[in-house]
Amino acid sequence: MSARSEPGTGENLIAGDVRLTPMRRQYLSLKAQHPDAILFFRLGDFYETFDQDAETCARVLQITLTGREIGRGQRVPMAGVPAHAVQGYLARMVQAGFKVAVCEQVGETEPATSGARAMMSREVTRVVTAGTVIEPSMLDGRRNNYLVSVVASSATDDRKVKRGIQDERGRALSWGLAYADITTGEFGCAQLDGDDGAEIGREIARLDPAECIIPAIERRVRSDDEMPTIESVACADRHISSWEPHQFDLATARASLHRVFGVASLVGFGCEDRPMAIRAAGALVAYLERTHRSRLPLLDGLITYDPSTYLRLDPYSRRNLDLDDDGSTGARGGGPARVTLVRVLDEARTPVGSRMLRRWLGQPLCDVQSISRRHDAVEGFVRDGARREMVRTILGRVADIERLAGRASQRLASPRDLHAIRTSLIASAEISRTPASGAISGTVADLAIQAVLMEIDPCQHIVDLIGSAVHVEESSTGAGSPNSQGAGSEDAAEGKTARSLQTVGAERIIRPGHSIELDALIASSQSSRNWIARLEGIERDRTGIRTLRVGFNRVFGYYLHVPNSYRGPVPDGYTRKQTLADGERFITPELKEHESKVLTASEAIDALQRRLFDEVQDKVAAESSRLRATANALATIDALSTFGTVAVKRGYVRPEIDETGGLELQGARHPVVEVAVTGGASTGYVPNDCVLDAAGGWMTILTGPNMAGKSTYLRSVALIVLMAQAGSFVPATVARIGLVDRIFTRVGAHDDLVAGRSTFMVEMVEAAQILRHATPRSLVILDELGRGTSTHDGLAIAQAVAEYLHGAAGSGGRPRTLFATHYHELADLDQMLDGVANARMDVLEEGDRVVFLHRVVSGAAGRSYGIHVARLAGMPKRVTERAAELLAHLESRAIRPSGTPVNDLSAIGGAPGAASLGRRRSRTVTGDVVQAGPMQLTMFAPEADVVRSALDQIDVDSLTPLEALNELSRLKRLAQNLP
Ligand code: ADP
Ligand code: MG
Repeated sequence: MSARSEPGTGENLIAGDVRLTPMRRQYLSLKAQHPDAILFFRLGDFYETFDQDAETCARVLQITLTGREIGRGQRVPMAGVPAHAVQGYLARMVQAGFKVAVCEQVGETEPATSGARAMMSREVTRVVTAGTVIEPSMLDGRRNNYLVSVVASSATDDRKVKRGIQDERGRALSWGLAYADITTGEFGCAQLDGDDGAEIGREIARLDPAECIIPAIERRVRSDDEMPTIESVACADRHISSWEPHQFDLATARASLHRVFGVASLVGFGCEDRPMAIRAAGALVAYLERTHRSRLPLLDGLITYDPSTYLRLDPYSRRNLDLDDDGSTGARGGGPARVTLVRVLDEARTPVGSRMLRRWLGQPLCDVQSISRRHDAVEGFVRDGARREMVRTILGRVADIERLAGRASQRLASPRDLHAIRTSLIASAEISRTPASGAISGTVADLAIQAVLMEIDPCQHIVDLIGSAVHVEESSTGAGSPNSQGAGSEDAAEGKTARSLQTVGAERIIRPGHSIELDALIASSQSSRNWIARLEGIERDRTGIRTLRVGFNRVFGYYLHVPNSYRGPVPDGYTRKQTLADGERFITPELKEHESKVLTASEAIDALQRRLFDEVQDKVAAESSRLRATANALATIDALSTFGTVAVKRGYVRPEIDETGGLELQGARHPVVEVAVTGGASTGYVPNDCVLDAAGGWMTILTGPNMAGKSTYLRSVALIVLMAQAGSFVPATVARIGLVDRIFTRVGAHDDLVAGRSTFMVEMVEAAQILRHATPRSLVILDELGRGTSTHDGLAIAQAVAEYLHGAAGSGGRPRTLFATHYHELADLDQMLDGVANARMDVLEEGDRVVFLHRVVSGAAGRSYGIHVARLAGMPKRVTERAAELLAHLESRAIRPSGTPVNDLSAIGGAPGAASLGRRRSRTVTGDVVQAGPMQLTMFAPEADVVRSALDQIDVDSLTPLEALNELSRLKRLAQNLP
């Protein structure tokens, strides 16, 4: 049984090996067309997998591995899943990283000739991959499911450069990027020139695709090594599918786009002159053609965009700022959801609105006018609470029109889906009519909202069509109709009432009055249905069997059930059909006749209803671009009113955006931490100010103890900028923001252990990136830079970076920079460089305890409070006490004039005024090491000095015994530092 015979490869077996069963040959030829996918082969009520696929599925899906005869007395492994539950299994296979080719029985059974068994013709109708799923159960409504296609300029023609990100002459590459969400029809492409990989990586991270398709390495290349392609490097850890390299060729790709969109030129899409974008987009549609054989999902045109026109944020900063979780956690994964910016802001009422919100936050704008337009509309919703509530209440009735329309275009919608579209359109018409309250009517804010409302197209004829054509059962749950049940529910209809018997086999999905033909068919079968419905009563009367029942089951059809309690003779004309434990089942010739009428009619009715329903779906699909426009307008209204709602709820203000280079925030809060701290038992969030401009300084160096709130402060500034440019109001009392083109954030190695970036090297590479790319419009956030190395190196580098950023003064100013550091020495930079200001985190010292006030005040921190943090963290008292002792020794050794912080490095920088800095400086210059051992410390501790000088002053010879005792006691107190 377990002796698994070698099934061989498709090629040598399909070619007419007559000893194989016909079905096996059919299977092998289909499998040969999809060697990289698991083939789900439809066999009656199951999808079966064979050979290696079966073993894989048995393991991944935890299903039983069996075997099947394939001819020549051979058996191969087989594992199958029931067809009615296939979605769940598909989802699990795709999640586990497999592609699944779904092979359906198509057309009629081939007629059985001369005794041979008839065979179904079969065809792969779809290849299910992570980026091409359409099943609602496999999608998260709140986020897009993007399929991304990536191609690099020399990737297919020069393998020497595959490993690197540059071509052989060291030039940066050109990239083509295309993305599509086939569930919504969104399709975009971009070309990125002269990019060393950072830009493309940023775009891919922003899209967070479910699947990336890249050119496969051609076979002759593959053998020599495992070198990753440049595209796979760009896609990093994502789900990657290799796709035929020739599909990425310009001519092929162009032809694919022409074919799919039925156009002769790509000028209308704006990518005619962007060959890389065309290559990526063309390969993507060809991939969709392959995965969705029968009906290509509807793509809504192609939009060419330029990533550099948006506020740019690298993947690292995206994570570092906790913008969004990656989709694998939370809603889908079930793990504890991370609190992210998106989670705090996403109070959207509709899935389309949620997706819009995510897109906006992922791609903040970079132009004052568009940003202001969003702010105007948000302001309208903030000021007009009545309209806001009205709009949001109605939005609650709006379903995911985008995805529903997508399903209709694939003929996959249910009657319920179509009615959801209808209800949503009716709601959208109501929304488009919501009036502004008197106070804001006619204002700029009102006009901004009106402009979006005007985009709503309520598609009245679609509403009418669905309303008059499509029937949905009021109470129907959508599942469990007679047609959708498997053979297992043989007796499902047993014991049903006469009324329900009437509906066997004919689920109504088309309303009466929509089709004369259908209504006639139904009427003609109705008399037989009525006859059957009356039969039970008639037969009970005729035979006198009070317990006689009429029933129906899928296998035997209609029957008369006579229970065992009846002991009389079989009534006239009854033919025994089936004997059960509790009775016998009979038929009569008349019942058979009516049954056949009912069943024939119900088949015809089903077929006709299906056809009529598909016609409705096609009409809906034909309007999909109008539906999408409406969905888009509703999504925009939802996102804007959500910003309005959150602004009111959390007390955000409208930021002022302009073209100046400055940044001024008052009462700024971290939107996520704020929610966390006010939710808990703590005292609430402490707002802070931030000024970065010519007057106040372009760079602020923020010093302060650990846990004082430095990182939180830095991130709050970055998040406020990002939210503002995405169109949201911001958590502050006043916000004036000069347009920011890029936000850079770097967090020192010790603060970023989670990301696994523990090496100093990585940190420096990233700092170098900032130095190369920051412009006068950028915002740079450096948190504990230089921590990944020993104190001196780290400090030196941190200072050099700060000086460089300061010196990187282009014509229009400097990058606005916030630099948090525990190197107090850096605070001296404000004396050496103009435009640098110091700030510190305020702390309250109560005896030997420290309270963090989380307040940013000007000036530099004088000391570190690491030990107090250790105490807060619950370190054993002996440890903290000893540490305090050591610290006291250390501090008393480092004699500082007038308490100013000591800067070891100012000497290197050659800064003026550094000469007054005393001992430490000269130690650094001579290369002496600051960290002295603990032994040394105790020997030369200051208390010892006092005691020693006291000892020196004692004239032992002149002391009386009593004086000696008193003196001894005094010395002891001196040594203990007591008065
Ligand atoms: P640092 O970077 O200085 O070590 P963090 O920014 O990590 O400090 O802040 C430590 C903790 O203090 C945060 O997790 C937060 O709970 C709290 N915190 C920070 N800033 C504030 C604030 N402004 N108001 C209230 N709590 C804050
Ligand atoms: Mg920190």
